[in-house]
Amino acid sequence: MTIDHETLVQDMTAWRRGLHAHPEFGFEEQRTSAFVAAKLREFGLDEVVAGVGGTGVVGTLKRGGGNRAIALRADMDALRIAEQGEAPYRSQNAGVMHACGHDGHTAMLLGAAKLLAAAGGFNGTVRFIFQPAEEWGRGALAMLDDGVMERFPFEEIYGLHNAPGLAIGQFQTRPGAIMSAEDNFEIVLRGVGGHAARPHVGKETLVAACALVMGLQTIVSRRLSPAEIAVVSVTELITDGTRNALPGEARILGDARSFSPAVSADIEQQMRVITDGIARAYNVEQTVSYTREFVPLFNDPALTREALGVAQDLFGAGNVSVAPEPFTGSEDFARFLDHVPGCFAFLGNGDSAPLHNPHYDFDDAGLIHGARFHAEIVRRRLPAA
Ligand SMILES: [Zn+2]
Ligand SMILES: [Zn+2]
Repeated sequence: MTIDHETLVQDMTAWRRGLHAHPEFGFEEQRTSAFVAAKLREFGLDEVVAGVGGTGVVGTLKRGGGNRAIALRADMDALRIAEQGEAPYRSQNAGVMHACGHDGHTAMLLGAAKLLAAAGGFNGTVRFIFQPAEEWGRGALAMLDDGVMERFPFEEIYGLHNAPGLAIGQFQTRPGAIMSAEDNFEIVLRGVGGHAARPHVGKETLVAACALVMGLQTIVSRRLSPAEIAVVSVTELITDGTRNALPGEARILGDARSFSPAVSADIEQQMRVITDGIARAYNVEQTVSYTREFVPLFNDPALTREALGVAQDLFGAGNVSVAPEPFTGSEDFARFLDHVPGCFAFLGNGDSAPLHNPHYDFDDAGLIHGARFHAEIVRRRLPAA
């Protein structure tokens, strides 16, 4: 049996708009995961298991006697952003919206499941992984902690993300590093607050905090090799001072991006050294907490060549490109690549608003490209006899 192209486009568009109207925050994707599981069952998959790592869903489809298995992954969660778009299918869940296009990712992976379940054309096992809480950087880990690799084994994995600014129908990826690690930090300086007219009798923390903000800018420019790509951004400086009272406490929060665990470790170590030095110089106490939210994403070179080959066959060589450099955004998909090789790639979303913008919307014209890529990479990697 084959599926009519127009019907599939209409189906995916309807699913995507339904998901868009009912966005759910990470680990709260109850309605979304129930919808996904119901659709996968309707398509006749061999096994559909919900509740993997919280609200995650894994569907399994087998054809032929092949013993190899590959996974396709989509993310289902939305963001705490109030939608400002006016589409008839706009968010009905106040303060939550699909501002990263995970509604589109979910719909196109469902489309691929429907295609492959109806038309086959491969020999082996496909795992359809719908993960929760990508935006937190926690959903993939939750599924891994819940035994996704042991319960639904697979040898390689593929994922797609829409890309505003890239034309619809265009496909881009690169071998090696493609998305960065995201580390978060919070530095607290503690002294003694007091009267704004008498700074010399206290240990105020604001001037120390300003020196520290400037000092942190030297980590990338003066401590890391110029050959490395990294970003250290201070995003918040909060004190307990008021207009005529010097603060006794200052908190500096921020975000660091890098493409290797060694560079991430260097950034943390330099941050501790600089913070300690400045705190001593200003005679205040300090604590640094440094957490790793996302690991860097490395595409397997051989499987990336396969993905590029599939995309060239489907979309034409002129619509497929190798990204010249990695992106400093982060992606939870990287957690799966700690276990198996795979490839993460971008599909054009045209001239939409940027990701995480209140006017963003996934362009339904991209759905068919995503569904076809997912289905074809399966047929390429698990060839039918
Ligand atoms: Zn996002
Ligand atoms: Zn996203």
